[in-house]
Formats: sequence, structure tokens, C-alpha cells
Amino acid sequence: IDKASAQTKELEFGGRIGTFCMIVFLPATVLYLLLMCKQEDPSIMNFPPPLPSFDSLWETRVFGVWLVWFFLQALFYLLPVGKVVEGIPLLNGRKLQYRINGFYAFALTAAAVGIFLYFELELHYLYDHFLQFAVSAIVFSVVFSIYLYIRSLKAPEENLSSGGNSGNFIYDFFTGHELNPRIGTFDLKYFCELRPSLIGWVVVNLAMLLAEMKIHNQNVPSLSMILVNSFQLLYVMDALWHEEAILTTMDITHDGFGFMLAFGDLVWVPFIFSLQAFYLVGHPNEISWLAASAIIILNMSGYYIFRCANSQKNAFRKNPKDPRLAHLKFIPTATGKSLLVSDWWGFVRHPNYLGDIIMALAWSLPCGFNHILPYFYVIYFTLFIIHREARDGRQCKKKYGLAWDRYCQRVPYRIIPYIY
Ligand code: NDP
Repeated sequence: IDKASAQTKELEFGGRIGTFCMIVFLPATVLYLLLMCKQEDPSIMNFPPPLPSFDSLWETRVFGVWLVWFFLQALFYLLPVGKVVEGIPLLNGRKLQYRINGFYAFALTAAAVGIFLYFELELHYLYDHFLQFAVSAIVFSVVFSIYLYIRSLKAPEENLSSGGNSGNFIYDFFTGHELNPRIGTFDLKYFCELRPSLIGWVVVNLAMLLAEMKIHNQNVPSLSMILVNSFQLLYVMDALWHEEAILTTMDITHDGFGFMLAFGDLVWVPFIFSLQAFYLVGHPNEISWLAASAIIILNMSGYYIFRCANSQKNAFRKNPKDPRLAHLKFIPTATGKSLLVSDWWGFVRHPNYLGDIIMALAWSLPCGFNHILPYFYVIYFTLFIIHREARDGRQCKKKYGLAWDRYCQRVPYRIIPYIY
């Protein structure tokens, strides 16, 4: 964890102006992308899409359904099932406890959706009111972020995040002032990171699949829709299965909980990551089995790289003396931790990001090449991950100093070998 003083000196994300613009532009981007996707011809030439009336964007019932969804996930999180583990030490040396029950929450959600469908309640309500759901989630995330900021003003100094403590209201509101806000043992950030976001994403995808079948009078979903749904389901199940790994990510250890993560978790993931499935409902794309097989191979190669790299680093961080890792080379650092320099982590500095980008491409390809819109995810994700890599590099340089420089010399490429 960041041992530096809790005061933020170097501002990221374009500083005050950059974060202010993001607070305004991110919600607008979500709405524009969804409106574009609803257009019959969503080509760039048709940008900007016609704006709907203000009234049609809001429905209190939809907001109610959204709240039920959020609190149902909160209830699942509270269930005393699954092991309790400790996070990495905070600035004051204390370790917070986290309950690992995301996969149970996923199974319970699947059962709830099953019951819902059994009673012939229609999940494509979500599709029919998709924009209103997005608006509800935006409103909720803004109100929630205001709550998070206000409560952070009363938080003890040692609970503040070193990245979101600049003293500037806008900047700290965006990046998150308090590191791990909790109500009792309920960890708000940890809860939002995987449950309403990732589980929400697969529920949205399923709703799109059912909407496609209904609208086009199909007995079975299209092959493209099946691919998009199954690839993303695999990704989400993988994240929930390895839930514990999130405790060592930047999101939990460094970034505070503010607008950036609240909006990211509650709006961006469920409504933008599902854009391909939403696109396919209105713009079906038939693909051959040959093309499908090539896309499946691409997705599985990305997944293989992503999983092997993440598992290797996690195992090494858990127990560097693990006999199964005896073949790996590493550079010792002054902190006592070492940096892997062979196998996956000697290939590029972020092999896990490389796998993630390959998967992102495989999620867009089933949508064909008629429009760029379904490629939004892979383009955005590549830029996001390049920025994340740079942020992580700066933090590693702070943590490991010269040892990090040596690592960068030995492993010159950041994400894509011989290119970047
Ligand atoms: P990483 O899991 O790559 O974690 C980076 C940390 O790993 C560094 O800070 C350092 O921490 C440690 N590390 C770096 N290099 C080495 C090395 N050579 N040997 C040992 N340890 C090393 O990054 P993230 O937390 O960003 O991402 C985790 C996963 O989540 C990735 O697979 C990523 O693709 C995915 N992700 C997906 C997102 C999405 O929107 N789909 C969003 C964000 C992430 P330390 O030394 O302190 O252990």
C-alpha cells in the first residue's frame, strides 16, 4: 500500500479541469451511446442522435426497480456465507476484513432470475426501458457520490485515500476522498465493484438475448448473441470466482470511493459493457460457423493469457516460495517483495492487460463490420488500460525505485510485445 503521506500532490486525470469535464461528459457519453444504439442506422454520419424529450427519460417505477435490484444485491452481500479474508495492511497497519461471497451472490441472482422467468415476468422490460434504467443508475450514482463525499469529510485522516486528498472539492469528489467507506462491516466500494456492476452486466446481456428472440420471433438466439453472452459470462464468472484477487488491485488499495468508481461500477459497466448485446437486438448480424470458430479461438487465447498471468502473479504474491513457482526468475526490491521477470511477467509488463484487450476485440467481432459503435468497448478499453498501465507504472516506480527501473529495462514492452 501507498506509504506516502495521505496528501495528494500530483493530480491525475487532467487535474481539476479534467475531472470536472469527466463528471459532465461521462454521463452524457452513456446517454449518447445508448441513443445511437437505438437508431436504425447508428453510423457516425447520424451523430448526434435526436434527443428524446426530458420526460421520456425518467420513470419512477424504473427507478424503483433499480433500487430493488441494488438492495437485493446488498442483501446477498450480507448473507453470512463464504469465507472472510483480510485485505492488505492500511497506512495505520490495520487490515480490513472482507467476506468472499460474490459467487454465491451470482448463483442467488441466477436463481432469482430463473424464478422471475418461470412466472413469465418479462425480462425484456429492461430492454424496453433501457435508457430510463441508465438514467436511474446515473441519478443514483450522483446522489451516492455526494453522500460518499459528505461522509468522507468526517472520516479520520488515516481513512482518506492518498489519491483523492488534494483539498480541491471537484477533484476529491471525482477520485474519491475516503479509501474504504464502510457502514459497520458493509464495505461500500468492495460491494459495488463486483456485484451491481458485473452481475448487473450479465443480467442486462440476458435481457438483450431474450429481447432479440422476442422481437425477431426467433426460437433460439442468434449465434452472434450467444457468443457475446457466453464470452462475457465467462469473464464475469471468472472475476467472481477469483474475487479475493480484487483486494490487491489499485481500486481497493489506492483509489478512494468517489464518483469515478461509483459511476464506473453502477453505470459504465452494466450499461456500456453490454453495448454489443444491445446493438445486436436492433442490428442483427449473421455469422458463419467458421467466423464463430475463429472468434471463439481468439477469445479463448485472450482468456488463457489473462488467467495464466493473473494466477501466476497472485500465487507469487501469496507465497513466493511456492515450489510450483520455483522455475520463475525475479528481481528483489527494497520493500521485501520481488518482481517477476520471466515467463508471463517477463514477456510484457502487463500480460494480463494484453489478454483482456484480445478478449475485448473478440466481444465486438460478432457484431460484424457495419458500424463502429459495437467496437466502442475495445477502443475505450484499450485507451483505459494504457492509462491504467501508466498510473500503475508511476506507483510501482514510487514503491520499488531502482528495482522497478531494472524491471523495465529487462522487460521493455508494456502491453503488446514489439509494439507498445
Ligand atoms: P495488475 O493485476 O496487473 O496489478 C498491478 C500490480 O501488480 C502492481 O501494482 C504490482 O503491485 C504488481 N506487479 C506488477 N508487475 C509485477 C511483476 N513483474 N511481478 C510481480 N508483481 C508485479 O493490475 P490491475 O489491478 O489493474 O488489474 C487486474 C486485472 O483486472 C487485470 O487482468 C486487468 O486486465 C483487469 N481489469 C479489467 C478492467 C475492466 O474494465 N474490464 C478494469 C481494470 C482491471 P504489488 O507489487 O504491490 O503487488
